[in-house]
Amino acid sequence: MKLFRGSTVCSLAMVGFCIFAAAQCLSALKEQKQGLRRFEFAEPYMGTMFKIVFYSSDESSALEASRVAFNRIAVLDHIMSDYQPSSELMRLSEVAGGPPTRISDDLYGVMSAAQEIAQKSDGAFDITIGPVVRLWRRARRQHELPESARLAQALELVGHEKLRLDAKARTAQLLKPGMLLDLGGIAKGYAADETLRVLKGYGIDRALVAAGGDIAVGEPPPDREGNGWTIAVASLDSPAQRPKRYVALHNAGISTSGDLEQHVEINGTRYSHIVDPKSGRAITGRVSVTVIAPDDTTADALATAVCVLGLERGLKLIQSIPETRALICQAKNGELQCSDWHFPATRDQSHDSPIVRMEQVSQRFPGL
Ligand code: ADP
Ligand code: MG
Repeated sequence: MKLFRGSTVCSLAMVGFCIFAAAQCLSALKEQKQGLRRFEFAEPYMGTMFKIVFYSSDESSALEASRVAFNRIAVLDHIMSDYQPSSELMRLSEVAGGPPTRISDDLYGVMSAAQEIAQKSDGAFDITIGPVVRLWRRARRQHELPESARLAQALELVGHEKLRLDAKARTAQLLKPGMLLDLGGIAKGYAADETLRVLKGYGIDRALVAAGGDIAVGEPPPDREGNGWTIAVASLDSPAQRPKRYVALHNAGISTSGDLEQHVEINGTRYSHIVDPKSGRAITGRVSVTVIAPDDTTADALATAVCVLGLERGLKLIQSIPETRALICQAKNGELQCSDWHFPATRDQSHDSPIVRMEQVSQRFPGL
């Protein structure tokens, strides 16, 4: 476990997000007055780095809380991984076509959240996408598009209506043999939410959990009372540069999906790791979606769904779900188009320049 304690600036240059905290003497004094110290920990799970930041007045309880929190993430990773053949998820897929199977509360919880978003998004988000995702993963490795016959075959096994959950019996049933579940679009959000819950159990409320581009935040840091954790959203046109947009959030989830990090170029076309469950095609064209929701399970799944739906239909989906916000950017004919739905803008005190609305930075992508 890596422990970065006492650092006042935290920069997280992972999947589309950075977090900055103000390095101000005043705030340090205030923290000291409350007896609160800042703790930061990071460990890799679910193919990404999980970062935990929180405030506590007690070092030994902080260390213990972080250890239990990472253990919880490790357990969730083992339940939900589609890379580990022994995961509960893979064992459930193995008995596809069979009778209902009793599953753990965690697997049930994340799957029922996924089914809800599947229904709301008209199947744009679909955890039965596994067989198709497998073909695209191979395509990425081999730099060769999947054969259309194989894609069509795999698509026969996809559809959220082919997954039945029974809330009372806590069972799941996959109706067709060969079905394969993939929680890649929601598991990190769920794990981030659960980590916050673990920390709360230790009386730690002022916490942030970042799983790459999936972030769950609790109460604000002591120096940001009434404001929130400052989260910088990396822009689609220049992800490596200083972010242009910041949001201040507390008690919420914020997730970014898109092709900034994971994509493959085949015959000059850029294919994302997100797949449209209707067509079986990987999303092409550059897109970046940031969603804010009351929890990060919802934000994570919605961000993936909106990538599939595109700007107009994606905005409609977000508008139909209470307490959600989104910033959607996509490239069309070489131009960057951004739209948002009540996406909050803030001016972080640690940055001098005012927030630049992404709509105003429309420009040509280099290399498009
Ligand atoms: P990231 O994993 O980069 O945070 P996402 O949250 O958008 O990005 O999840 C993408 C992953 O979700 C893919 O790698 C794949 O495992 C899975 N996936 C791809 N397409 C869909 C889809 N339409 N619905 C649900 N899950 C999907
Ligand atoms: Mg997602």
